[in-house]
Amino acid sequence: MIPYGRQDITEADIDAVVSVLRSDFLTQGPVVPRFEEKLARKVKVEHAVAVNSATSALHIACLALELGPGDILWTSSITFAASANCALYCGAKVDFVDIDPNTFNISPIKLREKLEVAAKAGRLPKVVVAVHMCGQSCDMRAIHALGQEFGFAIIEDASHAIGGQYLGTPIGDCRFSDITVFSFHPVKIITTAEGGVATTQDARLAERMRLLRSHGISREPSQLTRSSEGPWYYEQLALGFNYRMTEIQAALGVSQLDRLDDYVAIRHRKAQAYSELLAGLPLDTPWLHPDTYSAFHLYVVRLDIDAIGKPLGLLHEQMRAAGIAVNLHYIPVPMQPYYTGMGFDATEWPEACRYYRCAMTLPLFPTMQEVQQIKVAATLRTILEGGNSTQ
Ligand SMILES: *Cc1c(COP(=O)(O)O)cnc(C)c1O
Repeated sequence: MIPYGRQDITEADIDAVVSVLRSDFLTQGPVVPRFEEKLARKVKVEHAVAVNSATSALHIACLALELGPGDILWTSSITFAASANCALYCGAKVDFVDIDPNTFNISPIKLREKLEVAAKAGRLPKVVVAVHMCGQSCDMRAIHALGQEFGFAIIEDASHAIGGQYLGTPIGDCRFSDITVFSFHPVKIITTAEGGVATTQDARLAERMRLLRSHGISREPSQLTRSSEGPWYYEQLALGFNYRMTEIQAALGVSQLDRLDDYVAIRHRKAQAYSELLAGLPLDTPWLHPDTYSAFHLYVVRLDIDAIGKPLGLLHEQMRAAGIAVNLHYIPVPMQPYYTGMGFDATEWPEACRYYRCAMTLPLFPTMQEVQQIKVAATLRTILEGGNSTQ
């Protein structure tokens, strides 16, 4: 089976992990700060806070922005559930914004429309989570301008997008946001097995997130509210969590980060190859906005289902039967039973629903071989042209 995504682990990665295993610290040692510093330099940001997943990073990012009961967070209707769940963890409410059909990102036009309605009803969001679908940046300039106008904070969910750029600077530099979050799950651009980072230019937000990732406990003299009672002394200042990244994970991250630019360049070459291999088929290949340099985490095609005359489910089944693990990123979050149970009705986000009826993620990962890519394209061609390929 050709997977839709897969990690690449080199001998250098293995050596880095083994050297941590032979060292004194498996957690809370020198490698996590090294990973944070290296990543911060890479994405040109002041502060990077490493945690055990992007989901944890989203949670403490929301808390640092003081999202809580009575507040509302908005995010894209097409994203992984974690981009929305973080609001509920904080006791806040969540709502969704429709997508731009060309980029699959949150539509700034739909966002403005919804903000104008919400302003009249006195239900403006406190935080908007902008998700860089497939690794391509959202229209951050427009979203930031709306944030200034309507008074919300911005988190970039860049789980797909490390190594990408927007208007010539790295995603993660928070030029148009308060906090950016990355994921290092094995299917993402680089991996630490499980892991995430939150970046920010704001020292106060960084300090808050560092506190929350480790039980709300601090030993920093500048943060203590009383004088130290001895060398053991620390204070719990907030209700935090154990969201720490281990030294083992950070060592893998430090090593993987060396190859980030190569990985993204390879993804671009393979995306270009797909565009050529898929020419003439009844589908749209990814549209790239001129302001962005995508990290190309996902290669999503939109199939012309009406012209093809077969249901999307059957096309996905036929690809899988041929040994190609195509996928669909994502089911609109408000369509999930957990969210319909809260009263959401996905027909409120028509572009998200249209996307969900025609999308297919084709395999794309750095170690994918040329023959595998040719097989994916040839199989899709056969299936779309009416055959029921079994090869
Ligand atoms: C993968 C992903 C997450 C969650 O990342 P974890 O590190 O697995 O917690 C959040 N948002 C998006 C858009 C993702 O793709």
